[in-house]
Amino acid sequence: FENLKKFDPEVYETLKTELERQRTNIELIASENIVSEAVMEAMGSYFTNKYAEGYPGKRYYGGCEHVDVMENYAIDRLKEIFGAEHANVQPHSGSQANMGVYFAFLKPGDKVMGMNLSQGGHLTHGSPVNISGQYFDFTEYGVAKEDGMIDFDEVRRLAHEIKPKMIVAGASAYPREIDFKKFKEIADEVGAYLMVDMAHIAGLVAAGLHNNPCEVADFVTSTTHKTLRGPRGGVILCKKEYATKIDKAIFPGIQGGPLEHVIAAKAVCFKEALSPDFKEYQKKVVANAKALSDALIKRGFDIVSGGTDNHIVLLDLRSKNVTGKDAEKLLDEAHITVNKNSIPFDPANFLITSGVRLGTPAVTTRGMNEEDMETIAEIIEVVLGQKDIEKAKQMSRALTDKYPLYKDAVL
Ligand code: PLP
Repeated sequence: FENLKKFDPEVYETLKTELERQRTNIELIASENIVSEAVMEAMGSYFTNKYAEGYPGKRYYGGCEHVDVMENYAIDRLKEIFGAEHANVQPHSGSQANMGVYFAFLKPGDKVMGMNLSQGGHLTHGSPVNISGQYFDFTEYGVAKEDGMIDFDEVRRLAHEIKPKMIVAGASAYPREIDFKKFKEIADEVGAYLMVDMAHIAGLVAAGLHNNPCEVADFVTSTTHKTLRGPRGGVILCKKEYATKIDKAIFPGIQGGPLEHVIAAKAVCFKEALSPDFKEYQKKVVANAKALSDALIKRGFDIVSGGTDNHIVLLDLRSKNVTGKDAEKLLDEAHITVNKNSIPFDPANFLITSGVRLGTPAVTTRGMNEEDMETIAEIIEVVLGQKDIEKAKQMSRALTDKYPLYKDAVL
């Protein structure tokens, strides 16, 4: 980073301190991960200079011959991972991918069903503060109060009552495997499209650990930066019959020039996802989440739905007399990074919340194992139970020192 250091010491300094933060913190934000050096190199590369509106072979700019080859690698690898008929790798983000599907197949005012934000859904699944909730007529479904699992009886009842044009399945804070076939059955009963947003679990699906929505859904969207462990971005997968509409919706519908440097990094990420190592990594992500959940339960914490099937553990803090907001701050002081999160039927508002969401993708990439999850649960207990931040800080430091991050990076 010599050039950056010389020309822009201010930005350089923020980069240096951010790397130090990542090195010395236990990263438990469920939607984050740590990319490989190869992904990083592709992302910070000469592809950033290229305008390439359009798609491989059909561009609106000259000089796209190499970009075309590279973007086709990304498309072909993504289709291979998920067994999909068509892939669009251009969405700048997960939100853009979702907007692309809505723009292609819905008209303003159309009826749609999506999961309630405060029970695990995402803003783009119809929240009133998001364009999805303002342009379309969303009805929310959620989880059952008794067990925290998606209430399929309610989904079916609502679908028959509302007759939506589309049902959106997928979540941001749901710790259990989602039965996409069940969603498809319900969508078929009422003649609705099924869109699955697999942003959180894409890596688990790629590794064959969760059921693959591409086998049943009309459209599947995802981010590439969560369990999939690629650069920040989005993708859309769909059946061939929808390909033209989806591609047109992304460009020229809602985006201009694709971020080809990010697409190059996506291609590298997809190659990684096709390797046997990736499957082993995802198995460890799930095993670590189970270990963390068990270790917390052993220490008297309440876990939403009583456990986890994926990379997420949703902590219900009501019995600990601490809010999600305060827990996030206290854990941050002790070098554990989490986000406050509503729990289903949360009595507190969304700015305070009664829960925190924990996730194991990043710590697993770092090399941490099930024994380390015991240690992390212990540190969380020291922070939220004993309120001994100094002791917790030392424990966090001992753990992060054991697993150096980007150890060859020189800043
Ligand atoms: N969909 C789901 C289920 C998500 O959890 C997220 C992000 O957290 C998104 C979409 C949006 O992705 P992005 O932040 O890239 O717009």
